Amino acid sequence: MEHYDIIIIGGGPAGATLAWALRGSHKRILILDKQHFPRDKTCAGWVTPTVIDSLEIDLDDYGLGRTLQPIQRFRIGMMGQPALENDHSEIVSYGIRRFEFDEYLLNRVTADKQLGVPVKTLERHSQNWVINDTWEAPLVVGAGGHFCPVATKIGAGPGSHETVVAAKEVEFEMTPDQALRCAARGDTPELWFCPDLKGYAWVFRKGHYLNIGLGREDNHKLGDHLHRFVADMKSSGRIPDDLPTRFKGHAYLLYARAQRPLMDDGALLIGDSAGLAYTQSGEGIRPAIESALMAAEVVRRAPDYSASSLQRYGEAVAERFGTRSLNTTGGWRVPDWVRTPMARTLMRSHWFTRKVVTEKWFLHQHVPQLGAESY
Ligand SMILES: Cc1cc2nc3c(=O)[nH]c(=O)nc-3n(C[C@H](O)[C@H](O)[C@H](O)COP(=O)(O)OP(=O)(O)OC[C@H]3O[C@@H](n4cnc5c(N)ncnc54)[C@H](O)[C@@H]3O)c2cc1C
Repeated sequence: MEHYDIIIIGGGPAGATLAWALRGSHKRILILDKQHFPRDKTCAGWVTPTVIDSLEIDLDDYGLGRTLQPIQRFRIGMMGQPALENDHSEIVSYGIRRFEFDEYLLNRVTADKQLGVPVKTLERHSQNWVINDTWEAPLVVGAGGHFCPVATKIGAGPGSHETVVAAKEVEFEMTPDQALRCAARGDTPELWFCPDLKGYAWVFRKGHYLNIGLGREDNHKLGDHLHRFVADMKSSGRIPDDLPTRFKGHAYLLYARAQRPLMDDGALLIGDSAGLAYTQSGEGIRPAIESALMAAEVVRRAPDYSASSLQRYGEAVAERFGTRSLNTTGGWRVPDWVRTPMARTLMRSHWFTRKVVTEKWFLHQHVPQLGAESY
């Protein structure tokens, strides 16, 4: 049995950030991930400048041989009506490919890693967690995304009792000919809201890559919604008409609807495993990273890993993201007050789509970078 101080399950943005933030802490850390990296992750792949700053990423370095698409404008509309374009006059976001981004974050972690190793067993023996009968640690951190085994162990885990967002997406490298036939521009991602405001679709061009997807609060006829949207985008020439046919699906939790516990004796959940994605946009990378930074600070200061010593993490999450609503039904992405007959009119307003939809819901520009005083 190999002993560690902390075992992190999942090497995505949450897990990699936690290990990176604990560098120099003299803690013996192991990251376990069931996949080898680089690996695909279903995601549109846009990140805000705050994420880049929080992770101290040098964009000149990152951009060497990787896709890094600066975003300055947004094209926003409601399906079935013309879209608006808003120019923010500066770079307000970036497009990355998760295939590259996640590997970059994991590669700079110096902790021990076991990749291509799924967690099969996770048992509590006295003061330690024992994983796959091979590794043990007094603290296990669940960073394994929506289906994280730690979330299953310390809570009710994933299941039909949870209100998830369901999404389907494809990302592929365009041929030069497809790129010519694609009207969508790299610096201008497109957001198309469903008429019932229960979700939205996106067309996101990142360098030579094109990412198209649709997410909704209910997965009823998700494929039909996507099919109609794609057909519409093809016929208007916004995307090439010879796309790959295989869209990948994924479901995950939004913060306001999630009910998972954040910690237990010797256990913490961070990122999607805790259900932290922003409720209005579904953006999950920033909450994943911020929860990892908060967890790192709490772990550094905790006298032991009892639930009461880790309680500060739960408080920090609530202070940062708000107290979770107990109402787990209905409503997704947009506040209820927008779901009115006014919605169509609002979506035709430059002011509303820019100030509320983009800057507030999607870019969270009103939320400053996480500072040390936040935890
Ligand atoms: C279609 C779609 C589009 C999205 N677009 C965006 C976007 O544009 N911007 C944004 O910010 N967010 C977006 N999100 C959300 C974002 O992808 C997630 O919030 C984010 O990936 C969470 O990071 P994480 O590290 O918590 O989990 P993940 O990135 O899911 O990483 C979890 C890791 O755990 C590993 N793992 C899982 N189970 C096990 C196991 N049993 N044993 C070992 N390892 C395990 C997995 O292999 C994986 O590497 C999108 C989500 C979807 C579904």
